[in-house]
Amino acid sequence: MIPFNRPYMTGRELQLIAEAHANGHLSGDGPFTKRCHAWLEAQTGAARALLTHSCTAALEMSALLLDLEPGDEVIMPSYTFVSTANAFALRGAVPVFVDVRRDTLNLDESLVEAAITPRTRAICVVHYAGVSCEMDTLLAIAARHGLAVVEDAAQAIFSTYKGRPLGTLGDLGCLSFHETKNIISGEGGALLCRDAHYAERAEVIREKGTNRSKFFRGQVDKYTWVDIGSSYLPSELIAAFLAAQMDAGTQITQRRLALWDRYHEWATGHEAAGRLRRPIVPADCTHNGHMYYLLLPSLEKRTAFIQHMNDSGVGTVFHYIPLHSSPAGLRFGRASGELPVTDDLSARLVRMPLWMGLEEHMDEVLAAADKALLLLD
Ligand SMILES: *Cc1c(COP(=O)(O)O)cnc(C)c1O
Repeated sequence: MIPFNRPYMTGRELQLIAEAHANGHLSGDGPFTKRCHAWLEAQTGAARALLTHSCTAALEMSALLLDLEPGDEVIMPSYTFVSTANAFALRGAVPVFVDVRRDTLNLDESLVEAAITPRTRAICVVHYAGVSCEMDTLLAIAARHGLAVVEDAAQAIFSTYKGRPLGTLGDLGCLSFHETKNIISGEGGALLCRDAHYAERAEVIREKGTNRSKFFRGQVDKYTWVDIGSSYLPSELIAAFLAAQMDAGTQITQRRLALWDRYHEWATGHEAAGRLRRPIVPADCTHNGHMYYLLLPSLEKRTAFIQHMNDSGVGTVFHYIPLHSSPAGLRFGRASGELPVTDDLSARLVRMPLWMGLEEHMDEVLAAADKALLLLD
């Protein structure tokens, strides 16, 4: 069986974990965490990067930083992972679901203004498959209405919009290092603060509401409880693993992009024959090879495709079940009008395997996909 995903290990993780062990500093914010912060700040240009336990945790920190109150509204796509909405619902805020664009499956910027009410506080964009939303338009809308912008950039490390790294265009950016992402630490994430505005309070929220980070820098002579917060910082063992991945980040991205390009080339003929639609990357975006998906003609054909691929020993999966019609989405959120594109595309999308080492199996995967697609005709 060729699995849908296989986490990639660079081979240096255990050596760096052994170093962390030898350092004797196991809690957070030791030398490996600092190294990861420096890497992220250099890579993205964010004023402050802070490792977290997950992208979910970084989204929760964002909701705390925005001081959201019950009844406040946050505009977001329905076609996303649950954490995008859940992080805000935890504060009592209401996720307001807006439809996505047909080309990128990202938030449809032309529908955002119609969803704004006097309670709207923020827009949370999701860069699906590591491909950017139309950020200039979204940032202009946010500025016009005094809204904060949070980027769920869980899938988007190394991707850019008009040359700018994703996760640093909005006020706050959230990355994931979950084992299904490009750069991993099992579970893991980071919060990016674009400028100094949220940086100091983010440190406090991440350290249980204390000014401990300032204390360690010698800026205060004792540390104390100064705000609300929680424990959002991972241990040095996680940071050591992640540091090994970061060191290999450029090669990982290159190899993923080569796999992505191979799929894209292969799918050209099938697209011309009307059997599928390929992903679309807008001209002003570069992506990171996070995901290759196909849009099949119908839900029935997608179900059959996944079954045929499985029969050939290749794992493929569908993706998000829209949040606006999920049990919790109905309870905690609301849809802004109808979401026909979300309902349509989410039922037809299938994700192909894409992982480091898949290179040697690609002929087999593509032969299985050729066969499965012809069986659908
Ligand atoms: C993976 C993912 C998350 C969650 O990331 P965790 O690190 O597992 O919390 C959130 N949003 C999107 C869009 C994701 O792809």
